[in-house]
Amino acid sequence: MSDTFDVAVIGAGPGGYVAAIRCAQLGLKTACIEKETALGGTCLRVGCIPSKALLESSERYVEARDHLEEHGITAKGVTLDLGALLARKDKIVKGLTDGVAHLLKKNGVTRISGHGSLAARGEDGSYTIGIKGPDGSETIQAKNVILATGSRVADLPGVERSGDRIGGSTEALAYPEVPKHLVVIGAGVIGLELGSVWSRLGSNVTVLEYSDRCLPMMDSAIGKEAAKIFKRQGLTLKFGVRVTGAKVKGKGCIVEADGHDPISCDRVLVAVGRAPYTEGLGLDSVGIETDDRGRIPVDGHLQTSAPGVFAIGDVVKGAMLAHKAEEEGICVAERIATGWGHVNYDAIPNVIYTDPEIASVGQTSEELKAAGIPFKQGSFPFKANGRARALGQTQGLVKVIAHAETDRVLGVHMIGPRVGELIVEAAMAMSFGASSEDIARVCHAHPTLHEAVKEAALAVDGRAIHM
Ligand code: NAD
Repeated sequence: MSDTFDVAVIGAGPGGYVAAIRCAQLGLKTACIEKETALGGTCLRVGCIPSKALLESSERYVEARDHLEEHGITAKGVTLDLGALLARKDKIVKGLTDGVAHLLKKNGVTRISGHGSLAARGEDGSYTIGIKGPDGSETIQAKNVILATGSRVADLPGVERSGDRIGGSTEALAYPEVPKHLVVIGAGVIGLELGSVWSRLGSNVTVLEYSDRCLPMMDSAIGKEAAKIFKRQGLTLKFGVRVTGAKVKGKGCIVEADGHDPISCDRVLVAVGRAPYTEGLGLDSVGIETDDRGRIPVDGHLQTSAPGVFAIGDVVKGAMLAHKAEEEGICVAERIATGWGHVNYDAIPNVIYTDPEIASVGQTSEELKAAGIPFKQGSFPFKANGRARALGQTQGLVKVIAHAETDRVLGVHMIGPRVGELIVEAAMAMSFGASSEDIARVCHAHPTLHEAVKEAALAVDGRAIHM
């Protein structure tokens, strides 16, 4: 007789493990099924966390090598130990993935190791889930199922991923040596973050982007500023380039693009997006069909076409962000337990951890124009912010966009020092339906980077003080 659970969560990434913990907190008997040995999903194992560890280390290397002199500090003979740098990253990942296992245990979630797959729906409405694990197969029954299987690196036709020379973000987190010439396909989030890491460590990095600017989904003012800054840092950014192929040749690789001569390099990082991961999930057995982009269709309550089966995170529509998946996980858990649950999709921040950081929440000016929504905007440069000057990090700006008639904040976009933290102020303001006047009237501590947000809000009404 197999175990019966109130909820079975398939996938232990930020969406799945958070959903499982919230279900358990609400008194539901919960299982969390994960095929990888380490919990935490792409984010903790091969995504957000290891990339942030590398970004931090590489930033410190550049600072120690090039930027201490302006502070009157002399550091001679700064060298790089790539092995130690990668080992630090692995240690951070191990600490956090082990931490998730501890959290599941502490909350009474049953962890099941193996590949979970929906098998059938019984007459009582509960689901049978098959699990193929390292020690054999088992089945469990669950009244509700949360599919949180995430995404995988999207392939690009013509690009032969070799797993070594030509790979995705996972490989780029652990190159055994600094590539002499790294070609990055795509100037999106991964391309810019990991391109920056290897450029700082000494690679000659060429980023090939199909669109006419980097970060095409971001507000154009931010994308343009970002391109200027990254070019100054030494990244070669080429826009309007559609990569059509890449293959290993000898000890290196050749990248082909429409209307361009082939480019030789020693490694290629493919960063053209991610695709939902639903392989072997048994969706057919419960009548769920994926959409034209391979995503699991859900209604406004994240409920699939199969009653009691929910889907969250990268396998459903919306931004592929860990914190969006977490919010959806909590929403579904609360919905199963109480009948209520909500995600505010209008106030989900997006952060790119380059140096300087890039962050946004809400709509861009391009989106508002396309939707015919009247708006006004104000911006403020970090070079006029006292704290930024003291930090020696004066590049970038904050832009606040508000409705032309109601003044309600519709979007906030930033590039500059630590804006990944500042954006939470904007997300908070938008969650409470703030106007730009509301942000401008909040007393901001001086001297802080946050004052740039207040000044940009003042600038919406043409009354910034320090400009
Ligand atoms: P992305 O969608 O951010 O960027 C992909 C880029 O590739 C786009 O700019 C696109 O125009 C370009 N492109 C597509 N086909 C091309 C071609 N043939 N030739 C040249 N350029 C081409 O995708 P990503 O950077 O791979 O990231 C994947 C997902 O992971 C994203 O959804 C992202 O939000 C998420 N992610 C988030 C973070 C973060 O929050 N800091 C970090 C890493 C990844």
